[in-house]
Amino acid sequence: MQCQRPGILRKDRIGYQAVNRAGKGNQMETGKTAIVTGATRGIGKAIALELAKEGMDIAVIATAQNERSEKALEEIGQTGVKVRLFTGDVSVQEDTARMMEQINSEFEHVAVLVNNAGITRDSLLLSMKEEDIDRVIDVNLKGCMYMTKACLRPFMKQKKGAIVNISSVVGLMGNAGQANYAAAKAGIIGFTKTIAREYAAKNIRCNAIAPGFICTDMTAQLPPEAAEQLKSQIPLKRLGAAEEVAHLAAFLAGDKSAYITGEVIKVDGGMYI
Ligand code: NAP
Repeated sequence: MQCQRPGILRKDRIGYQAVNRAGKGNQMETGKTAIVTGATRGIGKAIALELAKEGMDIAVIATAQNERSEKALEEIGQTGVKVRLFTGDVSVQEDTARMMEQINSEFEHVAVLVNNAGITRDSLLLSMKEEDIDRVIDVNLKGCMYMTKACLRPFMKQKKGAIVNISSVVGLMGNAGQANYAAAKAGIIGFTKTIAREYAAKNIRCNAIAPGFICTDMTAQLPPEAAEQLKSQIPLKRLGAAEEVAHLAAFLAGDKSAYITGEVIKVDGGMYI
């Protein structure tokens, strides 16, 4: 049987060969927009920057407009692409619908959604408060579902879309003190595979990244001894950099990964082999 790329992808190759506004060849069509939730810092900001370098316009989603979000926007904007901030809570379905409406009126062609916003509220299960269980599941898991739901119609209409969900290696292996977070991140994996199956026929791909321990505000709270102990358990003997997650996110968001869907890929220095 002859292997042929579907027509829709052949058409995309015109865009693939284009040179982006940052002046580099890239794997994405020019003029396309990526939504990145939680892109004011850490992994989300690194992903937004990486996609911007590929020539994508960026819709940043965060909880509030403040000095940090302004700084992130400025940094992303320096790549030469259009970038805007949309504020809301990804765990509130009305907020995600409203933000999506605002994004659609501000940007032309949303092609990528990166569900990155996440929080932790750690403790052993016996002492874990109900509100900490709810909040972590709501933001990490339901937020990812609501944002995906808000993007599906535009993606279906244009018969193309790439969703990249940021799970965690603890969603695969568990972690003492993180029952709420590990459950939410494991939930993202089931959700990713389901969306991949439900919308593949519409040329919408959905993949997940499972980072190990990455240097961000989230891991900065670790006491130095705990960080040292962690490193000793990682075959590559160091924490990861946000940019190392961002490189994979950009690959999964772009056309070079056109035949990959429903995958979960670890970026963890070999922590969970
Ligand atoms: P981070 O530095 O704490 O940043 C979290 C981001 O999420 C912020 O931009 C924050 O916005 C946003 N956010 C939080 N709650 C939100 C809500 N309800 N609605 C909208 N935005 C919200 O986190 P990170 O370390 O970069 O982690 C990013 C993702 O990677 C998370 O999903 C995390 O679980 C996952 N991850 C991280 C690690 C790690 O080692 N760091 C490992 C595995 C997985 P504001 O600035 O407005 O608060």
